[in-house]
Parts: sequence; C-alpha cells; structure tokens
Amino acid sequence: MATTSMTERDERLDLLRGPVPPRPHDARTIAALTANPGCDRRAVLDAAGVDKRAVAERLGSGPRFGQSPFAISRGHAFEKLVKAEGGAILLRLLRETLGLDVGEHEWTDLGDGDRKRRYERTRALFAAACANPDAPAVLADHPLLVLDVGGRTAYVEPDVVAFRVSGASTPRWHLAEIKSFPMIDGRADPVKAGEAATQVAVYVLALQELMISLGLPADLVATDVVLVCPRDFTNTPDAALVDVRRQLAAVRRQLNRMPSISALLDRLDPAVTFDLALDADGVPTREPADLAGAVSTVPARYAPECVSRCEMAFHCRDEARAHGSTDLLGRTVRDALGGVGTMHEVLELASAAPSDAAVLSAVLSKESAFDDALADPEAARLLRTARRARAEALRSAADRESA
Ligand code: SF4
Repeated sequence: MATTSMTERDERLDLLRGPVPPRPHDARTIAALTANPGCDRRAVLDAAGVDKRAVAERLGSGPRFGQSPFAISRGHAFEKLVKAEGGAILLRLLRETLGLDVGEHEWTDLGDGDRKRRYERTRALFAAACANPDAPAVLADHPLLVLDVGGRTAYVEPDVVAFRVSGASTPRWHLAEIKSFPMIDGRADPVKAGEAATQVAVYVLALQELMISLGLPADLVATDVVLVCPRDFTNTPDAALVDVRRQLAAVRRQLNRMPSISALLDRLDPAVTFDLALDADGVPTREPADLAGAVSTVPARYAPECVSRCEMAFHCRDEARAHGSTDLLGRTVRDALGGVGTMHEVLELASAAPSDAAVLSAVLSKESAFDDALADPEAARLLRTARRARAEALRSAADRESA
C-alpha cells in the first residue's frame, strides 16, 4: 500500500483545497466530525480545510443551518459583557453562584498573534502556573490548544476561559464556555446544552493533552465545566456546572477511531481536487457536475443527523436517495440491517424464501458502502420475519373488517 510522508500529505491537502486559505478546525467541527467518524468525505474535506459551505453551494445544495448575523453579534456582546473588567462578572459567578475558590488571580489575554505563537504562550502560561501552585489563580482568556485529528494537528480556538481554582489540595483547571442561549430556571435547552457540552469536551481533551505533554497528570483538568448563559429571558449572566465526562469519553473514542488522513489520501485518485477555480472576484467557475464527480470519489456515510451538523448534508442526502441507500433510515436501522447497503437489497432479502441461498449470497456479497464484515445473514432472517409478521397483521386486520 502506498504511504504518504507528512510533506506529501500536506501538499496533497493543499492541492485538494486549491489556492485559497484553509478553513481551520474548531471545537464545533471536531465535535461534528467525531459524531460521524465513519465519514471519509467529511474527514478529507475538513483535513484539507475545504470550505464545505462553498462547495455545497456550488453543487446547488447549500446548507440551511448556521447562526444568523443577529445571533452571532448577540453572542459576541454577551461574551464581552461576561469578560468585561478583567472578568468581574465571571469571577462573581464562579465565587458566589458556584462556590469555587478563585482567590487572587491574574487575567491573561492570549488572543493576539498567530496561532503558533498563541499556542506557545498558552503552553508557557500553563507550565509556569503548574510549576508554582502557590502563585495567584490564573484566568486565561482565549487560550489556544492543539489536538491530533486523524494524524494532523488541529488548533482549537476556544472562546472560553480556563481558570485554576485553588483551595483544594491540588489546584485544578476548569473551562468556562459562554453561550448566548438562555438558561431558564437554572436549566438550558437540553439539545443546545448537549452541543455546548460536546464542544467543551473537545477543549477539555485538548487541555488534558497539554498537561500530559508537560509531564503532568490529565486529571488536573476538571471534567465539570462552567456554562455561562443569560438568565431566563434577560441579559443577566447565570452559571451552572456541567459534567462532560460522557462527552469527553465519546470524543476521545471517536478521535481514536478516525482513520488517519494519510490512509484516506492514499485511497484517493491523485487527480481529484475540490478547487472551486475562483475568478478574480472570488466567484467559483468550476462546473458543478465536475465538482460533484470529484466529491463522489470520497465515500460518504450519510445519517439524518448530518442535516444539522454538516454543510454537505443536502448533497449527501440527495446522493443517498439516488442510490436508495439505507443510510437514509438512520444509524439504528442501518446498524440493525447489518451492512445491507440499499433499500432494494433489503426488499430482496425480505422477499427471499429461507432456503433461497442464491438470493442471500448474491445480495450479501454485493459491494456495499459499509464494512463487508457487517453483512450478516441474521439481518436477512430478521427481515423475512418482519415481512411475515407484517403480512399476518394485515391479514388479521382484513379478516376482522370482513367479519
Ligand atoms: S453530510 Fe456528507 S460529508 Fe457531511 S458528515 Fe454527513 S455524509 Fe459526511
């Protein structure tokens, strides 16, 4: 099998993207990536820093999600309020609402400079603070952390504050995430809170990796994070501690499961590129059919959840529909079908007589979008049973109506 050096890999990723600046990973993209780790398409597009929204729009399937400009500016204004005057409001919430012992402290803004420099400053700040547990508590605004995503370094640029709480026998580092969705009666919308928890879990993992790289234990980083949101329908900040251990384990597991980017690139046709061929005004000139052909060379693993998480969702959904893919039925059904890739195959299996070994082996041996090892005659038996049960239920209903 061909192997790709890091330089070759990076050059190949640059060619895939075309002559435009890469779109960097952030906690949101890593969280979305780990929610669907089996999707090679997203892994390759993200690793190359391709603007997926621009690609989807060129394909005529632009995403219909994303924050409105109003929501984005409201979020920025709320974050500014919480961090104003050296984090005065944040400190009050930490001390009075959550009872965390943040005594004397130093507020350090790490948001300036290029990413390499910011990461070095972040690392130096944490190293110095950990070397002197008696020093004042540290509040690090906009620390920059790194994570290995598919064998490639991704910088995560949190809009969070990492702070060290003293008082306990071992000072621990917490992360705070500031969100502009409301917390009503001390509880946030579970879906939004869950998404925020997964994003902060990415930061927790990155901060744990930093501790490990400093020769320190990962458990210096607390897994209960501070979520700061507006209280009820006001603009008054409120805070709650959120346990992200479950999300942290999921993110860690999914990142470990992700195939390496080099292995994915080795499987790609060297001529493939997602370059939109922008003209002097930045308008894409690449023919959509040509671009669609390039996209189709990287296997996707569509799931209904993609619609709210990935810019390519409508294109991938149309593709899955065109193939009659069982991906459309959701992960639970797809997994229960044991690797049977299309609805046509499902119907064939459900109709086959138990002894019809020729149909079973023909369907199950077809090349599937899924892992061949998953193809399972047990799924065929269950499908036949379901079909028989449905036929019997319909027969009984008809009998009852005619009686
Ligand atoms: S929308 Fe497409 S590219 Fe994005 S994660 Fe889903 S299947 Fe993969």
